[in-house]
Amino acid sequence: MTAKPSSYFPAPRRARFCSQCGSPISRRVPDGDNRERDICDHCGAIHYQNPRVVVGTVPVWEGRILLCRRAIEPRYDTWTLPAGFMELGETTAQGAARETLEESGARIQLGDLFTVIDVPQVDQVHIYYLAQALGPELDPGPESLDARYYDESDIPWDDLSFRTVATTLRHFVEDRRRGVFGAHRYSLESH
Ligand SMILES: [Zn+2]
Repeated sequence: MTAKPSSYFPAPRRARFCSQCGSPISRRVPDGDNRERDICDHCGAIHYQNPRVVVGTVPVWEGRILLCRRAIEPRYDTWTLPAGFMELGETTAQGAARETLEESGARIQLGDLFTVIDVPQVDQVHIYYLAQALGPELDPGPESLDARYYDESDIPWDDLSFRTVATTLRHFVEDRRRGVFGAHRYSLESH
């Protein structure tokens, strides 16, 4: 047993060694495929990688919108909608409700699908649902410094965590003004 590291971090998507046999990985196009993969030439395992899904909500209580102040990197101490990586074995709706509860303590009734945002430069898809809070109580979890309901006029636009959060909020404000909420699908390309 070796000493623990001083801190932990999410491992990069590209593995250096085969998770099946421990041999070094090579990167090339397998026979019959059309793009590079991480391949183990010792045991034959092909380590496919696919985009990850981030799921979240736009919770509303008495017209105000729930935002959480991040207690973790990246974007520590900025405001975000409750959202996080979908876990294995859950649906997007379950993941969105779980992240909302974990990060804010809000009890919600999940609504319709609201935004589906492709973020190809980081290999992610972000999915937000509308949500109605069932009460004003909040109890931010360890990933949040704070959680609070914002009047539309007080939304900290210059202090939001991610472009996906800003565009989802902008769509929400615009749809509410028109009185019609629809699903929005779009891509956030790199600048
Ligand atoms: Zn292997």
